[in-house]
Amino acid sequence: MSLSRTSSLFGKRQTCQFLARCYSSQQDVDLVVIGGGPGGYVAAIKAAQLGMKTVCVEKNATLGGTCLNVGCIPSKSLLNNSNFLHMAQHDFASRGIDCTASLNLDKMMEAKRGSVKALTGGIAQLFKANKVGHVEGFASITGPNQVQAKKSDGSVETINTRNILIASGSEVTPFPGIEIDEENIVSSTGALSLKAVPKKMVVIGAGVIGLELGSVWQRLGAEVTAVEYIGTIGGMGIDGEVAKNFQRSLTKQGFKFLLNTKVLGAKKNGSQISVEVEGAKDGKKQTLECDALLVSVGRRPYTQGLGLENVKIELDKRGRIPVDGRFQTKVPSIFAIGDVIEGPMLAHKAEDEGILCVEGIAGGPVHIDYNCVPSVVYTHPEVAWVGKAEEQLKQEGVAYKVGKFPFVANSRAKTNNDQEGFVKILADKQTDRMLGVHIIGPNAGEMIAEATLALEYGASAEDVARVCHPHPTLSEAFREANLAAYCGKAINSI
Ligand SMILES: Cc1cc2nc3c(=O)[nH]c(=O)nc-3n(C[C@H](O)[C@H](O)[C@H](O)COP(=O)(O)OP(=O)(O)OC[C@H]3O[C@@H](n4cnc5c(N)ncnc54)[C@H](O)[C@@H]3O)c2cc1C
Repeated sequence: MSLSRTSSLFGKRQTCQFLARCYSSQQDVDLVVIGGGPGGYVAAIKAAQLGMKTVCVEKNATLGGTCLNVGCIPSKSLLNNSNFLHMAQHDFASRGIDCTASLNLDKMMEAKRGSVKALTGGIAQLFKANKVGHVEGFASITGPNQVQAKKSDGSVETINTRNILIASGSEVTPFPGIEIDEENIVSSTGALSLKAVPKKMVVIGAGVIGLELGSVWQRLGAEVTAVEYIGTIGGMGIDGEVAKNFQRSLTKQGFKFLLNTKVLGAKKNGSQISVEVEGAKDGKKQTLECDALLVSVGRRPYTQGLGLENVKIELDKRGRIPVDGRFQTKVPSIFAIGDVIEGPMLAHKAEDEGILCVEGIAGGPVHIDYNCVPSVVYTHPEVAWVGKAEEQLKQEGVAYKVGKFPFVANSRAKTNNDQEGFVKILADKQTDRMLGVHIIGPNAGEMIAEATLALEYGASAEDVARVCHPHPTLSEAFREANLAAYCGKAINSI
């Protein structure tokens, strides 16, 4: 089956099913996807739907990659449930709900495992339904058109393939000199499964993952201090004004921050850990004592054992696989997507790249606007943004205007007694075109989808302001902020 034939059958369902049924891992296939994370599994399903004989090789026993197993999904389960506990203990009484709530950590962890199991199992079902072949094994590229999968029983399966898509993802970046034991000196993976609530937790890095997991344990009773080398929290791309408000909110909840502070090292003494830190500006040293240390300084691409040397693919300075606009490496039959290439390390970015990449292999156009990839921090309040931050616009010399609307003036937020934060719209001063949207507040992560749609379609602030929004909803705050950006005044705020 030639690829040109496959491409010409683009979209013809009957033929896709015929091709898929022919699959046996002993035969040649159209595409081998290495990695079953959100990038790889989505790409594999899409490829099969487009009529390619597709097999996905995943080294782990479960599909879903970092995101489903030790990332997005377990962290959101813990964030959601720890927030319920926090509300039951600190908020319900003011709503007329009297109850005594206490933590059952085992049960909370069981709920997390249940979500992970259901979702990872769901991918296996999707593979079956879409006739995607699944090989459990460690994949190495042995040639431009060959992958070998080493299975846990030691056997090796060789798959000859027309194309290879690398979606091998990323791993935790280690902190030089601090050994992670995943017991009480943990990476994000260990922080998702601590056996008891620490009394004091130090988090190295106040980026998205550090703040989310720090929030979980802070709500469950730990005293959390986040140490951050730079002067703001929230990681790359966050708007400065939002970051300041975010820090204020988390501080009110009990979070402590040491910004502009460098971690020099950590020593373990039984169950106690001493973390030595130094002011990045004043050089002042201090030692923080804790019983749990979360090292959360980022992730790095994972390419170990992939066999890239066999096809002479070299990594860039940051360990990523270089690709062109069609996600093609310098070897025409080999493509790469997701955390292993340049760009934000986000599940939805990996998914979009996966779909576009296989559409491209099937002869379709490939286009992605990275400015329209949203970011969300799932704390409370949530923080979400898409497009440019004010600092970026200033740097680029773009003339812009700002429209803001506070949740305190939004009827639904007020009714829900959850009114912290605001929506901030940045629009081009001359054309009114939306340039960036920044939300801190309830449900920001859901609301940013509307902003992303508007940005992707090149909407002006007036366009959004003229769209009817249901009442009473939080989304009215988004509309009102657009109204403020476009004509200078919102309706429901002074
Ligand atoms: C704690 C945490 C929370 C996060 N929360 C969010 C969030 O809320 N939203 C969000 O968008 N992102 C979040 N992320 C980031 C998100 O998980 C990643 O961006 C996403 O998983 C990347 O997808 P991927 O498919 O590129 O790689 P991965 O998900 O890392 O998947 C790669 C897969 O490839 C497999 N693999 C690697 N090499 C081989 C090989 N040689 N052979 C076979 N298999 C191989 C790995 O086992 C893995 O399963 C979070 C990450 C963490 C750690």
